[in-house]
Amino acid sequence: MKFTRPRLPYANSDLEPVISATTVDYHYGKHEQAYIDNLNRLIEGSEFDDMPLEEIIRKSDGPLYNNASQAWNHIFYFFQFAVGGAGEPSGKLAGQIIDQFGSIEDFKQKFEQAGASLFGSGWVWLSADAEGKLYITQGRNAENPMSSGLRPILVFDVWEHAYYLDYQNRRAEHLSKLWDIVDWDIISIRYGE
Ligand code: MN
Repeated sequence: MKFTRPRLPYANSDLEPVISATTVDYHYGKHEQAYIDNLNRLIEGSEFDDMPLEEIIRKSDGPLYNNASQAWNHIFYFFQFAVGGAGEPSGKLAGQIIDQFGSIEDFKQKFEQAGASLFGSGWVWLSADAEGKLYITQGRNAENPMSSGLRPILVFDVWEHAYYLDYQNRRAEHLSKLWDIVDWDIISIRYGE
């Protein structure tokens, strides 16, 4: 089965000024396309050929894991944003965040800190377990918390390609701005509301 890069539900310039159209062009248009092309090349004629992407991620390692996971991670990342942002967490998810982290603001700070302090390339994830408990984790390179049995619900990309054109070395500033475009309705649906 050949994987394709889904069309984004917004224009590449719609996330400005938080993420520029040029960054979306390169990050989603070129980096993500390369991961998908590599993934398709690596599964062709192999036992992974007919597997859903999530299963490939769970069962592979090495270059196939890296490309499969990166292909999935970027779709998950780019499909959590909304034009002009989408407010703040609400409902059950907001309650759980406040229970575990003290306040929405404290949660955001802790999440940003996890992203800013990750050495090298990777991701900062918010995931839930089967009981709805939340976890902030760092993933190196392509690492995805699905591999540890958690269900991802929000992710920030801290690879330099995610922010260097717009923020140069200012990773922490980039992370703090991403809240302006996170669509919390989508995160709540992912959480199971
Ligand atoms: Mn990326």
